[in-house]
Order: sequence, then C-alpha cells, then structure tokens
Amino acid sequence: MQLYIDGEFYSREDAKISPFDHGFLYGDGVFEGIRAYSGRVFRLSEHLDRLYDSAKTIDLQIPLSKEEMTEAILETCRKNNLKDAYIRPLVSRGVGDLGLDPRKCEKPTVVVFAVEWGAMYGDLYEKGLKAISVSIRRNPAESLPPNVKSLNYLNNILAKIEANYKGGDEAIFFDTNGYVSEGSGDNIFVVKNGSISTPPTINNLRGITRLVGIEIANELGINISERNMGYYDLYSADEVFVTGTAAEIAPITLIDGRVIGNGKPGAITRQMMEKFKIVVQNEGTPIY
Ligand code: PMP
Repeated sequence: MQLYIDGEFYSREDAKISPFDHGFLYGDGVFEGIRAYSGRVFRLSEHLDRLYDSAKTIDLQIPLSKEEMTEAILETCRKNNLKDAYIRPLVSRGVGDLGLDPRKCEKPTVVVFAVEWGAMYGDLYEKGLKAISVSIRRNPAESLPPNVKSLNYLNNILAKIEANYKGGDEAIFFDTNGYVSEGSGDNIFVVKNGSISTPPTINNLRGITRLVGIEIANELGINISERNMGYYDLYSADEVFVTGTAAEIAPITLIDGRVIGNGKPGAITRQMMEKFKIVVQNEGTPIY
C-alpha cells in the first residue's frame, strides 16, 4: 500500500504523522470519503468542493489547488493499482504546539490513501439494517455545523456506540429541534404512500449520495421532497433507506423495534438501489 503524505508516497510501514499534528491532538481538520467504480472516481469534483468548503469554514487553507488534489487522488489510486476503491483524503491543521491556536501550526498536513472496499453492509442490503434512534443529538449547526466534514467525528461515534449497545446496525440522529437529522455516517430517506422525503441539509451532512438519490428518484418519476420529520414519520414509514459513499443505498427494516413496512427492503428502495448500481458504473473521472 502506498500512501500520499505532503507530496510524497510512503509504504504503510513508513507512513508517519507527528503526534503534535492538531488533526491528532484536537481533530482539527477535514476529510472526504470517495469511491471509485471500475476505474473511475465517482463525483470527484463534488467531493473536492465539499472538502474545500469544509476547510474554508474552519479557516484552513488547503495547500493544494483542486487540480493538484485531483492528481494526488488519482495518482494514489494508480500507485495502488486500484479500480474499485474507497479513497480517503484528509487535511489537518498540521504540527503545532500544545495550545489550540491554529496560528501556531506551521502548515496543513495532506494525506491521501485508498483501499479496495466492497459492500459495506454485506448481506444487510438484502435483509435490511436495524436502526436505533439515539438519545445523542446531532451537533447543532450553530455549534459545529454538520455540513463541515471535520476530523472530529465524536458526535457520530457516540451515536454509533449507543446504537451498538442497543443492538442496532446504524444510528438515527435527531437534531436539537427534535427533527430527524441523519445516520451516523449516512443520510436518511423515508418512503410513504409512494413519495420520498428527506430532511433538509442544515443539521446534517450535505451528502453527495443524497443528491444522487434525489436525481435517481426524479429520473424514476418518484415524487421526492425535503421536509422536517419527527419519529412518527420514521415509525409509520412504508420504507426507510440511507445513502452514503461507504453505505451506498441501504434499506432499514427495523427502527427501535418497530418493523418498517413488511420488514423487508421495500419496492421503491430496491428500485433506487438497482438504479444506483447502474449510475455509479456509467460516469466518473478516469483513473488511468
Ligand atoms: N452523513 C454523515 C455524517 C457522513 O459521514 C456521511 C458520509 N460522508 C454522509 C452523511 C453521506 O455523505 P456522502 O453521500 O457524501 O458520502
């Protein structure tokens, strides 16, 4: 495995980051999760736009242009002979002193690595995931905006821990207003009477797969809209599914012990999953 760190490639054994890097000390930085399918990177420019917007929001200047970052990502895939990959670019504040002050950090650290990674949830795409609506609230947008894909994922990790303890495969977050927000690492969609709803993107991450899901629903002629939802909408849904780069489109068939629909992935969810498989194979930035 060859990893990119600040313009050089290193083997996994030789790849080293300082413990004084503020990414490690404080989770001060941003990242992306991107997939490549059959030798093409899916929605790369959208992921880079989000990475740079996240960085801008936390006042972090990425030392590479988007073109240079694109090349670093493609070269990382090439060096590892990858065609189907999960790609992880990270930019941290860099090495500083033990204080929080970002001005003490010399320069941002840029890391890119990529691995071969198949279906994240294995046979759960057939069976459906068990979800738990957790008591931990999604970080409110007026604190750490969930739109920033920051290296500080503790809010999400706490949700995952709670869901794990309660026997769930995935957590469902509510926001501090009591509205459905998202999963711990994916966006959420609810199907009722043939129409799809998804929460607006203020108190959750503006998922790139979420947008693909909206595009697919429109192409399939399925009514889709953004609206605030409560737990009533989850429990009384005909179908629920989540979307994310890692998760792709995954059905949820049980929430807090309530069976969703007939307890199997629903017809609209399956249609969306099928179409998604086609879409990801038919576009993207060529690696080779
Ligand atoms: N929400 C959270 C909290 C996430 O970590 C992710 C994964 N990046 C998503 C949603 C889905 O976003 P995307 O479709 O861009 O991967």
